[in-house]
Amino acid sequence: MSSPISRRDFLKTAGAATASACAVNSVPRLAAALPAKGSVAVTLPLATFPYSDVELLAGPMKRQFEENHALFLNLEDDRLLKVFRQMAGLPAPGEDMGGWYDIGGFSLERNDFHGFIPGHSFGQYLSGLARAYAVTGSDETRAKIDRLVKGYGETLDPKAKFFVDYRLPAYTYDKLACGLIDAYEFAHNSQALDIHGKLTHAITPYLPEKALSRQEQRSRPHKDTSYTWDETYTLPENLFLAYQRSGNVFYREMAKKYLEDDTYFNPLSEGNNVLPFEHAYSHVNAFSSAMQAYVTLGSEKHLRAARNGFEMLVRTQSFATGGWGPNESFGEPGTGQLGNSLGETHASFETPCGAYGHFKIARYLVRVSKDSKYGDSMERMLYNTILGAWPIQADGTSFYYSDYATTGKKVWYGQKWPCCSGTFPQLAADYHVSTYFRSSDGVYVNLFTPSRVKWTDGAGRYGITQETEYPFENKIAMKISASEPGEFAVYVRIPRWVATEPTLSVNGNRVSGPVEPGSFSRITRTWKDGDRIELELPMKLSLETVDANHPNLVALIHGPLVLFALADSQPTFDRDGLLGAKPANTGKGDWVARSSEGREVTMRPFATIDKENYSTYVQLKS
Ligand SMILES: [Zn+2]
Repeated sequence: MSSPISRRDFLKTAGAATASACAVNSVPRLAAALPAKGSVAVTLPLATFPYSDVELLAGPMKRQFEENHALFLNLEDDRLLKVFRQMAGLPAPGEDMGGWYDIGGFSLERNDFHGFIPGHSFGQYLSGLARAYAVTGSDETRAKIDRLVKGYGETLDPKAKFFVDYRLPAYTYDKLACGLIDAYEFAHNSQALDIHGKLTHAITPYLPEKALSRQEQRSRPHKDTSYTWDETYTLPENLFLAYQRSGNVFYREMAKKYLEDDTYFNPLSEGNNVLPFEHAYSHVNAFSSAMQAYVTLGSEKHLRAARNGFEMLVRTQSFATGGWGPNESFGEPGTGQLGNSLGETHASFETPCGAYGHFKIARYLVRVSKDSKYGDSMERMLYNTILGAWPIQADGTSFYYSDYATTGKKVWYGQKWPCCSGTFPQLAADYHVSTYFRSSDGVYVNLFTPSRVKWTDGAGRYGITQETEYPFENKIAMKISASEPGEFAVYVRIPRWVATEPTLSVNGNRVSGPVEPGSFSRITRTWKDGDRIELELPMKLSLETVDANHPNLVALIHGPLVLFALADSQPTFDRDGLLGAKPANTGKGDWVARSSEGREVTMRPFATIDKENYSTYVQLKS
């Protein structure tokens, strides 16, 4: 393998390609006005493509991206900015947003989360819009980003009075910071970095001196117990990114202070599973801070922490769907905690936030390792969790928890504009950067979904277009476009779960190299326009137990897809009856299995379940 391309060289080439190939995205940056970028210690072997170089074609991922983009594009600026203007004593026209977003009203005793964290998700909506702009080049989106950044900047004072007595300053700062650096990076907003700098300096007095675990926060008495929920340990990722994008070493040094080494990354790096009893999403999100410590500082310890932590997450905390953390908490391995949770809670997996954090760390880890298992993990999460989430409604009503209870159903979350309304638009935009990766010698196809990627190499312009109904069918077709013949490698993910030998062919001829399940299979040749790659991934039905303590609680799985039993109470099956399920021609990806009482039970993927009652896990007759 030749030496990896540097990220900056790659982005330079990619930027040039974007300008020539795609007129709508050709907003030039003025080199003279740009600050120097902060250098990184490590260039990951795989790079993400720029958002603009990947296009999602008709399918559920494109639909989710467009729904989120349209919703936040059409949400009134005055409403989004209202809480910041109110706290700054400025005229604050417009309706209240409602739910978590407003000022006041929160009561832990009354279980009323109205006004829980004012303005908490503004930065995420801004980030989602900036990433959506990077994908679409929509002038309207860019204009909205510019108005929101300017409007937010007008409410900011040097003491950040907004954060006086604020419940979760690190939580909201982290999201505001992300939105501002994304507005700069992806929507080329000229004010955003400056405002980010002012905010960061102003907020420092409201933050503790280091990352505090929830345990440590509980030991620092405060009148309001909800202060223990602040998430200082997720700050480093966006601070390292702020350093990389601005070149300002202040952010890099600040990021180092908030790495939660003592109680989290040190033990994880040594293989000690310290996940139990931690808050689930924010601690998965923290893995991405560890990865940025590796990228920016070259810290191998933090790479080990992220790798080990992800491994522990998948092996000891995850349901068959890929979801994790019932009641937003990690349990103790070996105690049957996942199986027990099915009888105890309907809040089984915090879906948009969890999927966002999971995709982010899996993307870092596949880029550092070129190991296809992270792609396998992403597709599990994709098809069985987030693609089944209902879209955020115009009034902020949101899908939050997936329900894996003995008898479960999809419900709306009780309060408007929760955390999950912030991560959903970011995640849906990130589908573009999760599907393909670029290596020094070619392109990695990570997710199978209708889409197109394009790039340049020398004078040549190349592309891959995927056509597939996967995972509802097991065939994927990839068509190469090439302005001139070009030699490069196409790496195709071969999932570990394939039932029998997969088939990979080019222009109808089986490839000669190995096609190993659990790897990226490489095809290197001189590609010509119209060349066609075909992949067939044989799928079979299998059973997966919820945990070792509950050997008779199983999920039925076909390929990467969990099949949920539609039933008003948890059905019981003989093993043969369940594994003998037959596809049903309903257009919803349904299967039908015969229960031990001889009843026909519809087995349906999460994405096509609407209001039906279902059981994620069914009883196996022993
Ligand atoms: Zn959430």
